[in-house]
Amino acid sequence: MGIAITDHYDVDAPSRDQEFLFNPAEQQQEIAKVEMELWKEIREKDFQIMRGIEVGLQPGSMAKIKEFTGKYSFDTVIASIHFVDGTDPYMGTYYGDKDYKYAFSHTLEIMYETALAYKDFDILGHYDYVARYSPYGHGCRDITMAEFGEWIEPILRFLAQEGKTFEINTKTYKNHKGYIPQLDTAILRRFRELGGEALSLGSDSHNLLRFGDEFEKYAHIAKECGFRWLVYYKGRKPQYYRIEL
Ligand SMILES: [Zn+2]
Repeated sequence: MGIAITDHYDVDAPSRDQEFLFNPAEQQQEIAKVEMELWKEIREKDFQIMRGIEVGLQPGSMAKIKEFTGKYSFDTVIASIHFVDGTDPYMGTYYGDKDYKYAFSHTLEIMYETALAYKDFDILGHYDYVARYSPYGHGCRDITMAEFGEWIEPILRFLAQEGKTFEINTKTYKNHKGYIPQLDTAILRRFRELGGEALSLGSDSHNLLRFGDEFEKYAHIAKECGFRWLVYYKGRKPQYYRIEL
């Protein structure tokens, strides 16, 4: 059992810049302090605390991102898209007069290009972040294989070929603006078909209340989609664990 602390690191954030950065040396000192203070419990429960980072990818920022992450060592690196065209979908301004098809596919296109350019990561984070905060009506709120396969397929293929992991981020499947986005299991099945070995579960909790939220439910779904293993990373090495349900 354990926890991976993956602080955000977004260079060139369009606003509130400092909120999206952190000092890895401080993070790692803080974790070491907790490990010292709780060493007995940690040993008894065989609990692990992973030092991680969630890197925000943007096309114009790749050199800065590589330079920064190259200076530190982490247990796990999640690569995510948080900003598209200089705005955070969370803030709502991204959608403007875009229709859902363009809004989602444009983000997926950037996800593919930046993931390919960055490469030095373990897990692709919340591929459906753009759908999570979208303002569209029913029937236009989900990223499905049937509608977005053209953009998702290359992402899945790249991850499978490179031995990287696709994340199920359980925060997406919550009520956002009166709608609960749906996870299309055809995406997971396709990743498996393409050779994806394992999935990772992330709760994107940002606080203790949602820590590990609904992991059991989504482990079950992963199993139904043909996965026998889930994975987390330690020292950037995949640690597979069998889905026992
Ligand atoms: Zn994120």
